[in-house]
Amino acid sequence: RSKDQSGGMYHCYEPQLHVAAEERRILEQALRKALSNDELDVHYQPVVDAGTGSLKGFEALVRWTHPELGSISPAKFIPLAEDARLIAPIGEWVLRSACAEAATWPGETRIAVNVSPEQLHNPGFVAIVASALANSGLPASRLELEVTESVFMRDDTGAVKVLERILGLGVRLSLDDFGTGYSSLGYLSRTKFSTIKIDRSFVIGASKKVPEAIAIIRAVVALAQSLGMATTAEGVETEDEHRMVQDLGCTKVQGYYFGRPLPVAEARSLAQRDWSDRAAA
Ligand code: C2E
Ligand code: MG
Ligand code: MG
Ligand code: MG
Repeated sequence: RSKDQSGGMYHCYEPQLHVAAEERRILEQALRKALSNDELDVHYQPVVDAGTGSLKGFEALVRWTHPELGSISPAKFIPLAEDARLIAPIGEWVLRSACAEAATWPGETRIAVNVSPEQLHNPGFVAIVASALANSGLPASRLELEVTESVFMRDDTGAVKVLERILGLGVRLSLDDFGTGYSSLGYLSRTKFSTIKIDRSFVIGASKKVPEAIAIIRAVVALAQSLGMATTAEGVETEDEHRMVQDLGCTKVQGYYFGRPLPVAEARSLAQRDWSDRAAA
């Protein structure tokens, strides 16, 4: 590293950073073609009732399998897609695929789809949601859009207006990864979320008896209850973690303990099995 004379900033000459930049460039090029090359796929992770264990719905999670590079994590390519202005077409494709699939599920089984801030800053996104519902025949009440606190960090007003119009369609909203962003609780009183999703980091902390993690989950559950919202504990991997978040009053749970994100056919048969089990009960 060499210190910049003028501003005290650091110029980086580490070869590693060049590799990262090069990797980014390659991935971005590949991602531009991923949709048309049919390399994207949607997996579905079960979300269950914390008390009864019955299936409430699924979260749609995009998957990318590159012919040479293999499978690439969304944690890596979603931020890249956001920077490269590719998130709008990818997000729209996930939304349309997920709605079409969810329309085949029985009963009230819900589908949650992640939405990036970029998508919400486009007023045309409301028409995309309406069209995904109309084309699939999925009732609006069975669609839930997951947004993160970061939506509220930039210019509030554009995104909040879009969210309001989406609520007007009868679609639900949930607040994802709660507690990991720069929260100002003000937006919870302005926008009607149905569910607050408590990030896995707090679930891990609580099961390790970290007092702060327990206190935070307790406070979020109390806040959600008083605002008439449900809470989903994310990333529940063990029976211990399940018991803990259930004791703390979380209403829904999601995680490897209940099911990994599943390929479309497996999710569909799980939805049907759960439905016939309940019909038989
Ligand atoms: P997220 O929305 O918070 O999704 C939950 C992530 O936690 C998923 O990672 C899921 O596979 C993982 N997970 C679920 N249960 C467990 C568990 O028990 N233990 C652990 N360790 N992890 C668990 P995934 O699929 O890698 O997705 C990562 C993130 O990428 C998502 O976080 C979401 O922010 C983003 N993402 C995925 N699909 C989409 C999409 O279609 N659109 C947008 N905008 N973002 C997406
Ligand atoms: Mg999510
Ligand atoms: Mg999450
Ligand atoms: Mg998360």
